[in-house]
Amino acid sequence: MSSRVKIPEDGEPIVVQGGVWNVPNKPIILYIEGDGIGPEITNVAIKVINKAVERAYGSSREIKWVKVYAGEEAEKVYGNRFPEETINLISKYRVVLKGPLETPIGGGWRSINVAIRMLLDAYANVRPVKYMPGLESPLKHPERVDMVIIRENTDDLYRGGIEWSWDSPEAAKLRKFLKEELKVDLEDDTGIGIKPISKYKTQRVARFAFKFAIENKRRSVTIMHKGNIMKYTEGAFREWAYEVALKEFRDYIVTEEEVNKLYGGKVPPGKILVNDRIADNMFQQIITRPENYDVILAPNLNGDYISDAAGALIGDIGVLGGANVGDTGGMFEAVHGTAPKYAGKNVANPTGIIRAGGELMLRFMGWREAADLIDRAITEAINQKKVTQDLARYMGVQPLGTKEFGDALIEIIDQLK
Ligand code: NAP
Repeated sequence: MSSRVKIPEDGEPIVVQGGVWNVPNKPIILYIEGDGIGPEITNVAIKVINKAVERAYGSSREIKWVKVYAGEEAEKVYGNRFPEETINLISKYRVVLKGPLETPIGGGWRSINVAIRMLLDAYANVRPVKYMPGLESPLKHPERVDMVIIRENTDDLYRGGIEWSWDSPEAAKLRKFLKEELKVDLEDDTGIGIKPISKYKTQRVARFAFKFAIENKRRSVTIMHKGNIMKYTEGAFREWAYEVALKEFRDYIVTEEEVNKLYGGKVPPGKILVNDRIADNMFQQIITRPENYDVILAPNLNGDYISDAAGALIGDIGVLGGANVGDTGGMFEAVHGTAPKYAGKNVANPTGIIRAGGELMLRFMGWREAADLIDRAITEAINQKKVTQDLARYMGVQPLGTKEFGDALIEIIDQLK
């Protein structure tokens, strides 16, 4: 099949090697509009990002956006939800802004979101959760919430496919093996899933988290685990993460034990505190004492749960963006899904994808000035009560449409000092 995608001649690929981003002034970045509300929010995000880049750098820098197809639109155009041309382009250009994609529950096609993460070996999921004044949070002091959750993305119970129904021959075989070889007797009606946690995968995401904390001048990294019960998976995650901290980042970090023994309970200036918390404790702690948590490093399953719980603290997970990053590229997306009931109505909130692409992606690219403009513009828009219906309904103000909200952000970016 001939190519449907045109690559701009004056654009150049971003090269990410060993986690180091080498970004030309006219980088090619792929985007997938997505399903449901995806096209509306993605196109608004691109306009806002372009404005911020132009305001920050004039004509010296410009993103060369290239639309690639996935999801429902790809099904129409290529007869395939994740066509080969898209796979090849993602493999080549390695940086993608992605609108939400539908994944059916219980059957149908496999998640394209997961396929893209795997394709890019995007092993770290990065989700900043910071309160924005004006949002209706369930907390008394939501302004104390400023966390970044770094979740391992490729290991653990989520690795996929290592799970068998209770009545399958595979589960029967495993039960027999466990009984005969390891003297573990399970009921005959037991379904089985396997929880793999590897040292290599733990240590690369831990390394990522400590580097992230150093580069972004964060205060602490908390390793979240259920190692008291799952000793050789989550307990090992804790142990291996500490090992990386102590061996590779010794000059930058101090452990909680050292703070208590050597420094009278106070973190020495300039050092990043490394501690760990058991997962269940962590859920109550981020609610009762959010100010004590900064970067949270978690294995896949814990990370999934705590990300949404942390998102709820600021009152609206719809405004959050996430990055899926590896050593050779990344995919940036909103935290929410396709919200099908709002599709095509110009009412969806594009803030999540604007944060993902505008803030997170630009920061990974090192385009900090443009990222800052977007951050400030979103805060200012909420401050001026220029919001979409999801927020307007509890702020008691007239909502802006998706496009009009984007235009408001662009106007604010123009006016920022
Ligand atoms: P969802 O699409 O996030 O929508 C759930 C609810 O959240 C909506 O009904 C709406 O709430 C609110 N919402 C989400 N995004 C919004 C936005 N931008 N503006 C305004 N309101 C927004 O979750 P879902 O219904 O569970 O999932 C739908 C599909 O999305 C599924 O196929 C799922 O697999 C997929 N999904 C994809 C991704 C991804 O691409 N990474 C992530 C999650 C889900 P109200 O009804 O309260 O207004």
